[in-house]
Amino acid sequence: MVVDDIKTLDQNDPLTSYKAQFALPDEVIYLDGNSLGALPKRVSERMEETTRQQWGQDLISSWNKHQWVTLPQRVGAKIAPLIGANAEEVVCCDSISVNLFKLLAAAITFNGTHVRNRIVSSHDNFPTDLYIAQGLETLLGSERCQFVDVAEDELMHAIDDQTAVVMVTEVNFRSGKRLDIAALAQKAHQHGALILVDLAHSAGVMPIHLNQWRVDMAVGCTYKYLNGGPGAPAFLYVRSDLLGNLQQPVAGWFGHSNPFAFAADYTPDQGIKQFLAGTPSVISMAAVDASLELFSDLDMEQVRTKSMQLTQVFHELIEQTGLTKTLTLLSPLSANERGSQLSYAFDYAYELCQALIARGVVADFRAPNFIRFGFAPLYNSFDDVWKAVELVQQVIESKDYLQPRWAQRQTVT
Ligand SMILES: *Cc1c(COP(=O)(O)O)cnc(C)c1O
Repeated sequence: MVVDDIKTLDQNDPLTSYKAQFALPDEVIYLDGNSLGALPKRVSERMEETTRQQWGQDLISSWNKHQWVTLPQRVGAKIAPLIGANAEEVVCCDSISVNLFKLLAAAITFNGTHVRNRIVSSHDNFPTDLYIAQGLETLLGSERCQFVDVAEDELMHAIDDQTAVVMVTEVNFRSGKRLDIAALAQKAHQHGALILVDLAHSAGVMPIHLNQWRVDMAVGCTYKYLNGGPGAPAFLYVRSDLLGNLQQPVAGWFGHSNPFAFAADYTPDQGIKQFLAGTPSVISMAAVDASLELFSDLDMEQVRTKSMQLTQVFHELIEQTGLTKTLTLLSPLSANERGSQLSYAFDYAYELCQALIARGVVADFRAPNFIRFGFAPLYNSFDDVWKAVELVQQVIESKDYLQPRWAQRQTVT
């Protein structure tokens, strides 16, 4: 592969106009959109309007006038087509962690006999997913809720008649490996269990078909590929025929059927609104709402095609430059079997990452020894990939990563 091939790929890229919609610094090659998505310019404009006019001038009347009160459902409705769901099955609220707690507890009590008490997940799922399940087991006691975590390739075998809910993440945050969600859903249902899917590393970067895959519940992130901003609220999905049959434990007033009646007793809403707890974070959610405008006429198949090409070209260049002698690919070799990232094992992964950041290539480090490159098809180009690999080669061949200053550990990696 030569630089002209890269130029051709960029010239034929149907998504090339999207980059101008983002406020990226000129000299930065940002390969970390899987951790914090870049800032869409329209989000800055919306923030200005939301604070100056809506909050500043219209004050409390904005709850009605600008419909702040229905933002969780309106943003949910915009996310729905991106995940293969109906508008009334999705809301935007809280963090993934909190939403997992609500849904796992609802699933355990829905299926709650002492026989069917297990949450089944994989051992290398994202830690917060594991912690929430462990916390629920502690809270309910192991008679009522037993957390079972197995190796990722053992998941299918671990699902049995004692399983209440299978909790899986579609794309593994560390390896980038993609699971066959439809097959897992089928297996869960054969045993009478529910399935809960974490879409943190899939939403906004690949087509997702929750209804078609028969997924019961899902959660996902808006600050990764959906570019909603740091700490932007997450989303939550519940299949429509389960709505009204589940009860989540964080029974806050926004999940009440009529919060402004200020009744003393809790009556849950029968729809997806029941999964809300407290007042929405309006400013953050307005940022998500503005960012989602970018996705309204996007063809997710096209996004996936480019995402697979980006990872493929990156790894081909790594191979071509002989860097596979140093960097060991952890991600699946076939683009179809992975998400929009590549992870490599290297003893000096942390130092390599810091040396790259200093050269304007932003990647990230995941313990114990992985460097992770994330590819965002809306703003990464093939030229970014070419330049990034050149710099990886430069740092590795010069052994610059051995400089002590790159070993200084920061809190957030
Ligand atoms: C990023 C990520 C999260 C983040 O959870 P929050 O509670 O929203 O901070 C959860 N799960 C996975 C798989 C992730 O990648």
